[in-house]
Amino acid sequence: MAPIFLKPYLQTKIWGGKRLAEFNYDLPNDKVGEAWVISGYRKQASVVDGGEFDGQSLRDVYQNNPALFGNPTEKEFPLLVKFLDAQDNLSIQVHPDDEYAERVEHDRGKTESWYVLDCPDDAEIIFGHHAKNKAELKKMIEDHDWQDLLGREKVKKGDFFYVPSGTIHALTKGVMVIETQQSSDVTYRLYDYDRRDSDGNLRELHTQKAIDVIKTPYVKDQVEPVKKEIPGGVLTTLIEAPQSPHFNLWQLDIDSEMDFPLTGYPYYLVSVIDGAGKMDQYDLHKGSNFILPYGYPNPKFIGKLRLVISTPGE
Ligand code: ZN
Repeated sequence: MAPIFLKPYLQTKIWGGKRLAEFNYDLPNDKVGEAWVISGYRKQASVVDGGEFDGQSLRDVYQNNPALFGNPTEKEFPLLVKFLDAQDNLSIQVHPDDEYAERVEHDRGKTESWYVLDCPDDAEIIFGHHAKNKAELKKMIEDHDWQDLLGREKVKKGDFFYVPSGTIHALTKGVMVIETQQSSDVTYRLYDYDRRDSDGNLRELHTQKAIDVIKTPYVKDQVEPVKKEIPGGVLTTLIEAPQSPHFNLWQLDIDSEMDFPLTGYPYYLVSVIDGAGKMDQYDLHKGSNFILPYGYPNPKFIGKLRLVISTPGE
């Protein structure tokens, strides 16, 4: 029984940069915006690094070895974990829920979440909106009244945001996050700051679909993380089902040594966001990502480490 270590699938973006090198990834250029570090998504899956499944995509490992994942009912790996480096403002966007995505896109819906790894001192992200109903939303979008429409939230390092499907959102320049989300790639772009690419073209907008799926009025759906001291460190619950039906998410801080009691989920997705050390006989460093498969015994961590851990939700 061994953890499944993964190499990320890297994505070049017009808003990307080179800071993901801080997580020990070899970047092919200086516009890498996303590292899909735990992904079983279609052709953008991460690849197993070492061990029995070395070189195979997580997508294949999941589909060919269901026992490692507790014989799940979901045919495709349900979650996707990414690191994002926004060196410019991202487009203002929204994602559909499962019902709409299934019907219109033949994909999953996308509820996501952000844990802020770094950001400028006075950073604000775009989050939520001020339209009272669909008619007002439509009018404000048609009038390009972005100033009045878009909500804003101040952010600092360590903040956590739950981003249910139907929520208008956008990361802004200088913000780095680890994003845990449903495994889906359906994004409806509402506004792109009228930017043109190197060929002088505007990126496509999906205005009608965005209007279809944006929830009105916007209702804030956040919880305060709950910290709990446990032997050897601190376990912070970022969000759990039922509020977040698609995933449970925790931050685990290890001071120097910890026997971590796993809590009965079929498998765990783990990312090292800071520090270095060991889990059992395996070396860990900032940017390590792995899955603890079904039946893995309680791991023993050594070193000073900060982890983000998730499991599928309900
Ligand atoms: Zn998004």
